[in-house]
Order: sequence, then structure tokens, then C-alpha cells
Amino acid sequence: MKLLTFSTQEGRPRLGVLLDDGRVLDVGVAYKLLFEAKPPRMLRDMRSLIASGDIGLRLLDFVRGQAAKVIRSNSEVAELLSKNAVHSLESIKFHPPIPNPEKALFVAVNYWSHARELKVDPPEKPYLFVKLGNTLVAHGSPVIIPKTATKPDHEVELAVVIGREGKYVDKSIAMNYVFGYTIVNDVSLRDKQTPMPRLGIRWLHAKSFDTGAPIGPWIVTKDEIEDPHNLGLKLKVNDEVRQEGSTSDMIFRIPELLEVASDGVTLKPGDIMATGTPQGVGAATGRFLRDGDVMSASIERIGVLVNMVVFER
Ligand code: MG
Repeated sequence: MKLLTFSTQEGRPRLGVLLDDGRVLDVGVAYKLLFEAKPPRMLRDMRSLIASGDIGLRLLDFVRGQAAKVIRSNSEVAELLSKNAVHSLESIKFHPPIPNPEKALFVAVNYWSHARELKVDPPEKPYLFVKLGNTLVAHGSPVIIPKTATKPDHEVELAVVIGREGKYVDKSIAMNYVFGYTIVNDVSLRDKQTPMPRLGIRWLHAKSFDTGAPIGPWIVTKDEIEDPHNLGLKLKVNDEVRQEGSTSDMIFRIPELLEVASDGVTLKPGDIMATGTPQGVGAATGRFLRDGDVMSASIERIGVLVNMVVFER
């Protein structure tokens, strides 16, 4: 299933699921119309759904199936559903699929091709950093480049969505902690990334500036992606392909990343673990983002995440 958080007009964010025809089903409204009852807590928002585990997903799948069946019928409920619970993708406003994760974790230099283009030795162990809640923006929202930055750059990444709580997770069972996958663009300010003597990279200002982590457009549940380590990924700036690679090129794979990430740090349902970027970034080519550029980050079997670059004035 493809799951999203969206709103219509000025309404509050809602949990949605894609129907086979590519339209969005408002899960809460559909539940009310189909079963004449208030939807249970687990269907209220993305984090509640993820935290409810398998039961929530099974219930959601049932609601989706029932809604699709009823819509095809010639009934009064069908008309109500079509009118109130089904929206075209063009008519909705996207929100980050998980609007309020506790943590968004990232990893430095995790593709062989990216290590080569930067001419750096790959790290011996995954090196993780964080992006804060101020960075997350949705598909279709602008990425605002701070007026103090001069070298904004893009990084398309596969992002893992954590499905259950875990600490000191062993890599042999780490995939059991995965709920699904989405796309993140780890927008980076290279001019702010230069290490300070003895103190290292300024991670906060280079990576965690407001709007610096567009994410979405939706989460694809893990049952739909047989092998997350064999997906093509690409980033275009306007019509030009700048990054292209495969998740098979990762230096540390998802289980190892989760093992290291959960060392003393409890992973929670809805947390994000981004997995690194392939070659083609501006830091290597010298071509940085410009005001008005449109970034399209795409990953096979997931979709396309589109965001415009807007320079702050
Ligand atoms: Mg990155």
C-alpha cells in the first residue's frame, strides 16, 4: 500500500491511502461512511497507524478494499464516498508522510560511487547524524535556502520508516523493524559544511536548516518492495539528470545501519533512517542549486518527490 498524509483546502492533516486508480482515499471519512462509526485510534494518523503494527495495516487494507468495492456499486454510499472520501492527487496538499517523527537519522558517505567522487575513503563504520523536525517538508513544498548560504546541494536518498520500538537491534533481525520506505532529499549547504579545526563539520547549519529535508510523497509498505537493496534512484534538476545510481551500491546496508543507529538510542515507530546518496552531487561536480530550480528525486517502486528551490531574500 501507498500511505500518505494530506489535507484539502484549509483542513487538518489526514491519513490517506492510494486506490488502484491512483486517487487518494481519506481513511477516516471512508470508515465513517462505510461502517457508520468513528474510526479507531489506529486509523487517526500515520504515527498511530504505524505504532499499531500489523492489526492497523490489516484494518486499513480492509477499509481500502471495501471502499473500492462500494465505489463501483450503484448505491447512495458510493455517491457519498466519491464525493467526500476520494480525491485526485492534483487536488490535495501533501504533508510529510509522518508529520512528527521523533527522530530523522542520516548517514554520511554510504555509497561507493559517492565516496569515489568525493575522493574519500569509505568510513569503517556507519557515521550517523540527525536532522531536526524543522527540516521536514512535503512533496510540492519549497526548499528555502538561507540567505547566508552559497552552495546549496541535493542528495536523493532511500529512507526507511521504522515500524516498531527497538534498542540494540541486532542486524540479523533488523529488517523486522522496518515498516516501509519513502524518499528523502538530504539538501545540504556545502559552504557551511567545511570542518572547523578540532570540532568537525557544522552539521546543524549545513544539514538541519529549516526545510532542508523534503520527504515523501508517500510511504510504500515493505511488502511491496521485495529487495530494498536493488532499487534505481535518480535526481533531476529541472530536466537534467544529476544523480543516478542503485541502492545496491550502499556501503552499509539497512540492517547494519539500524544496528548502529539503535546503539543506546531507542528506535520508535515513525522514525526515519535515511540511507545515503549516490554519485552526482554538486560537492563533486561544482554545480550547485540555483533559485527557481526544480528538484525531482525518484526511486523505483516508490515514486517522485518534487520540490522547488527558493532563495531566501
Ligand atoms: Mg546524505
